[in-house]
Amino acid sequence: MSDISGIHHVTAIAGNAQENLDFYTGVLGMRLVKKSVNQDMPGTYHLFFADGEAHPGTDITFFPWPDLQPAKRGHGQAAEISLAVPIGSLAYWTDRLEHYGASPKTPETRHGEHVLPFSDPHGLQLALVETSDQRDFTPWIRSSVPEAKQITALHALRLVERDMATTAGFLANVLGFSAAGIEAGWHRFSIAGGGSGRHLDILEARESPRGAWGTGGVHHVAWRVPDDVTQLKVRDRVEAAHRRPTPVIDRFWFHSVYFLEPGGVLFELATDGPGFTVDEDMSALGDRLVLPPWLEPRRQDIEAALPPLSAPAVADESYL
Ligand code: ZN
Repeated sequence: MSDISGIHHVTAIAGNAQENLDFYTGVLGMRLVKKSVNQDMPGTYHLFFADGEAHPGTDITFFPWPDLQPAKRGHGQAAEISLAVPIGSLAYWTDRLEHYGASPKTPETRHGEHVLPFSDPHGLQLALVETSDQRDFTPWIRSSVPEAKQITALHALRLVERDMATTAGFLANVLGFSAAGIEAGWHRFSIAGGGSGRHLDILEARESPRGAWGTGGVHHVAWRVPDDVTQLKVRDRVEAAHRRPTPVIDRFWFHSVYFLEPGGVLFELATDGPGFTVDEDMSALGDRLVLPPWLEPRRQDIEAALPPLSAPAVADESYL
């Protein structure tokens, strides 16, 4: 078994926080499982969307930075996040995305799976992928999407790189990925035996410009490690490969190590625990602004500086 067991979460940069909340809860039907702040910049929200019980591997998170430039597409960046949906649900999703003006693109088949690419209101490239692979998933009972159609987890990620060989070597030798074929120029890598949540697809684009962070872009990609011991083991290998990992940082809901993979994409190793219920009951996840203990003394100032957020305006309960 690999030390890394799959995708833990992906963090991206959004524009307006309310629009971000409206889209991921109201249109995509995900659960807001944590409303917090960027721990390094507490004047910015950090919003976490996941399944009904916030399982690791279901979580897409955002820093809403409306004043940032749009992300610059290019190498050294993640190009797309795909989300798993049940077999047979893409017709529903096509109608739903069209209904809300999210303009789904032409459906594709990738590795034998039905895929619906689209983008969020701030330009983040997403795709829904039908899969029958079993995921740790609990439906969100207050979702605006019926249980049988809900997004179940993160499925795969696409990165664009200038030099495939260097990144491929690092993925294989340091992180434990296996090459799993090439389709339409995308090199597939799998971790922990592959399957939904364990895919990474890379396109080599030697002539493309260097990409840059901005709204609608991915900030970092986090990989799951089961515990602190395994995290340190992988961290040691990353350090031996001269990728200069950070020390272990306590993110309160999990422990994190960050480093740049050789192509320039920011990776994180995140532990499965302690999890999002460490500071809120499962039934109340996301209801209030949660701060890690070291920011709690500054709560009043932090709350005053954040824009108000209300329940999603676009949730159309009649559209099921
Ligand atoms: Zn992260």
